[in-house]
Amino acid sequence: PQIVSFSDITKTFENGTVALQDLSLEIRQGEFVSLLGPSGCGKSTALRLLAGLSEPNSGRLNWADDTMSVPDHDLSFVFQEPTLMPWATVFENVRLPLKVRGIGKVEARGRVMSALELVGLERFEKSYPRELSGGMKMRVSIARALVTEPKVLLMDEPFAALDEITRFKLNNELLEFWSKFGLTVVFVTHSVFESVYLSSRILIMTSGPGRIVADLPMTAPYPRD
Ligand code: ADP
Ligand code: ADP
Repeated sequence: PQIVSFSDITKTFENGTVALQDLSLEIRQGEFVSLLGPSGCGKSTALRLLAGLSEPNSGRLNWADDTMSVPDHDLSFVFQEPTLMPWATVFENVRLPLKVRGIGKVEARGRVMSALELVGLERFEKSYPRELSGGMKMRVSIARALVTEPKVLLMDEPFAALDEITRFKLNNELLEFWSKFGLTVVFVTHSVFESVYLSSRILIMTSGPGRIVADLPMTAPYPRD
């Protein structure tokens, strides 16, 4: 089933830049969609609209389930930079979204430790971000995104700052989470390799102004349940 649709969305910034023009698009539940295109073609703008971090000037964005329109509810966002709180431990960083939702300590502890196990960092719960490698910090960010058990994971060039080997490892981990949890993933990248390797569908975007020029179904590398 469809999870979200864009109907004729146009986004113009105050300085007159038309970042997206007449964008129409449907995303179905369980898809791994890559938004692929050159810098400035509007990928992040489209993702920010999905996250509720920005509003279109015209057109409509519709979640199949109304509750999804509330920012942060059932949605997790992973940014290019790990954006961890440097003064807090790995455990506290991953617990933050649960704390915000008022989830009690005992339940939170179990969920945080499960999320850390998923990314292989359960032994680092007491570490601080400065003690971790770039790849490990990104894994903490992913654990923090998954700890709320979101339906939709929005990722904005999450691995761009990492070396190629770490990036490839994280690609494989991400595919595992995706197939395991039946997540819907919207993944912004300018890497052709990454989009082909990861996605069940690639949307190719172009700029001037931002629009989708191709919508390619891909063979998912992992069978879905
Ligand atoms: P991408 O993620 O594909 O690199 P963006 O969505 O970040 O592209 O940007 C799309 C276009 O909108 C670019 O021309 C960019 O310069 C412009 N843009 C993005 N954010 C703003 C903003 N806050 N104000 C003005 N222009 C912006
Ligand atoms: P990255 O993906 O950031 O490159 P790696 O998995 O290659 O991280 O590990 C980098 C270093 O960090 C390794 O030398 C390893 O000792 C340590 N490390 C990373 N993850 C773990 C882990 N789960 N347990 C123990 N050590 C780890």
